[in-house]
Amino acid sequence: MSDKKLTIAIDGFSSCGKSTVAKELAKKLGYIYVDTGAMYRAVTLYCMRNSLISDDGTVNETELKKVIGNVGISFIYDQQTSKNTTLLNGEVVEDEIRRIEVSNKVSYVSRIDFVRAQMVKLQQDMGRQGGIVMDGRDIGTVVFPNADLKIFMTASPEVRAQRRFDELTAKGEKVTFDEILENVNQRDYLDQHREVSPLRQADDAHVVDNSNMTREEQFDVILQLVVNAKNN
Ligand code: C5P
Repeated sequence: MSDKKLTIAIDGFSSCGKSTVAKELAKKLGYIYVDTGAMYRAVTLYCMRNSLISDDGTVNETELKKVIGNVGISFIYDQQTSKNTTLLNGEVVEDEIRRIEVSNKVSYVSRIDFVRAQMVKLQQDMGRQGGIVMDGRDIGTVVFPNADLKIFMTASPEVRAQRRFDELTAKGEKVTFDEILENVNQRDYLDQHREVSPLRQADDAHVVDNSNMTREEQFDVILQLVVNAKNN
């Protein structure tokens, strides 16, 4: 493969394995990996801790706008393993932001325009040098519309819910499959129908439906796309 340092955007629905593949790819290529979902999750956790979001998902936008500048999000990134640890104002919140309580609220926070503007700016700053794999919902459409390679990943809601269910139960979280499936469907809907930067496939994205692929098969497909992009 040539030495060209690519900017790779991986978008798609929740729980379709974007971060797993993005991490593997970053490791293989020696690139930086950025999990943008973690950033929206961290802002959501901040809102929950500071009573800025109610149980039904209503966000106190006036107050959040006043303090959004104080929400410090950073990562500790291990280049060897591509493991990303998310920090909120210096505190490790990696596990907490993956909990179902945060998943149930995050789409209400990520649809707010000034939250998105702040996150997008941070993401663009992180990716300025290239040599980056970033996953999210709007990376190929808004954050890096000129990315060298855009991948749009998808899988059926049931397959995605099963994966997330396995992941959370392995961590000892008490959740039911139906609860997870409902969360997956609800987030799909909210992410696709919000006014600001809704989840959509970029016109020049390569679609990868991994419902019936093993992790290895999927990785091979994506690696081939990288090789093609490098040769372009
Ligand atoms: O990728 P993950 O499932 O962790 O993302 C959590 C949520 O963050 C998504 O459901 C979506 O609402 C939001 N998100 C977003 N834009 C991104 C990444 C995530 O709106 N680039």
